[in-house]
Amino acid sequence: MGKNDPFKNAMRQLAEANEIISIDKNIYAQLQHPQRVLEVFLPIKMDDGHVEVFTGWRSQYNDARGPYKGGIRFHPDVSRSEVQALSAWMTWKTAVVNIPLGGGKGGVAVDPKKLSDRELQELSRSYMRAIAKFVGPNLDIPAPDVYTDPRIMGWMLDEYEKMFGAHTPGVITGKPLSIGGSEVREYSTAQGAVYVLLRAAEKLGLAKNSTVAIQGFGNAGSFMAELLERAGYRVAVLSDSHGTICNYMGLKVAEVATHKKNTGSVSGYSGANNEGEKHCLEHEVDILIPAALENSINAENVNLIKTKLIVELANGPISQEAEKVLNRKNILIVPDILANAGGVVVSYFEQVQNASGYYWKKEEVLTRLKEIMDLAFDEVWKEKEKNRTTMRLGAYTLAVRRVEAAMKDRGRN
Ligand code: NAD
Repeated sequence: MGKNDPFKNAMRQLAEANEIISIDKNIYAQLQHPQRVLEVFLPIKMDDGHVEVFTGWRSQYNDARGPYKGGIRFHPDVSRSEVQALSAWMTWKTAVVNIPLGGGKGGVAVDPKKLSDRELQELSRSYMRAIAKFVGPNLDIPAPDVYTDPRIMGWMLDEYEKMFGAHTPGVITGKPLSIGGSEVREYSTAQGAVYVLLRAAEKLGLAKNSTVAIQGFGNAGSFMAELLERAGYRVAVLSDSHGTICNYMGLKVAEVATHKKNTGSVSGYSGANNEGEKHCLEHEVDILIPAALENSINAENVNLIKTKLIVELANGPISQEAEKVLNRKNILIVPDILANAGGVVVSYFEQVQNASGYYWKKEEVLTRLKEIMDLAFDEVWKEKEKNRTTMRLGAYTLAVRRVEAAMKDRGRN
């Protein structure tokens, strides 16, 4: 995703998909804009007594298939354009896995690491107060995203319920288990990615003990490493912003996690070769999983990549130029809107459980997640074959057509 104007980039991707499927022109015109974007200014009394005003947004891109759905990001670089782009992506993501939700996204331009716990709680509550009239279990359901977590969701839920005077757990997902969260939610993104990875590996005839490199041993990447090791894969390369570690016999993921917990990085782990963080992409592995930042695979490093399969756990990790090179080399890419949709699928399960007041066991969540991810993979694969295109465009065309159908059925064309 280009840094300058993320929403323009999102619209370019839509245009590319539209070249293949040519949707109704009246619907296409509407999809050039979110349905609503809310901009809010949040005055917070800081610990030293002065008031600081933070800017936040909630973008509601499309609700034809169901209530808007998408996380809230707290990051200094958050902008209106980025939030809008992410809300469009959420619309395609919920459509590609065919859950009855639309797409939205929220954010506040803030560096949460610089806030005290009290200031962070005040900001979270203040953001929820500002958007409360525009969210709800049947309207728009936020969730965690970059630098927001279950604790913040708990504060926001509490604020919402105080305002409206009733328990409404379904207004927000990614909550702690004690107040209506779902089993599996914590590692749902990685689990969903594992299910589609297994499907893709089967298509390519990759063996169960294939080698894997994961760029970014953070929240999503570390769960992915653990799950793949458990499934019999050889996790050979792991990296974070400090360095890369490599052992082709297979790293011991739990030991690496303990090392990272103690030292703050995977670097320095004794059971591996230690290298700089950039070297992660250079290793010859069967499967590469970008799980760090946007555009981490770009024109500068794409030629170093030697792999057969890329599963995008991160959002937008491959630049447009790099993607062209990878496609030419016939490297299969499972795109982000499919590969990391497990998180939003389990968010949807959380809502369903909240609505019925009846909570599922872990096994039930996993079975239902697998069913949805497997079906979505197969449908995207079929679409890719039918249009003789990439999996990314297959996922986009499938998703955009689903949104188009819902808009038509509502008479919005
Ligand atoms: P995180 O901050 O926990 O982890 C990111 C990791 O990337 C960190 O370990 C960081 O050290 C590492 N990193 C940063 N720069 C790097 C570099 N140059 N080389 C190697 N590693 C580097 O974030 P996360 O929640 O795991 O999210 C990662 C990606 O996955 C993001 O794109 C996010 O949007 C996407 N994602 C996450 C979830 C989720 O449930 N966590 C859901 C959907 C999508």
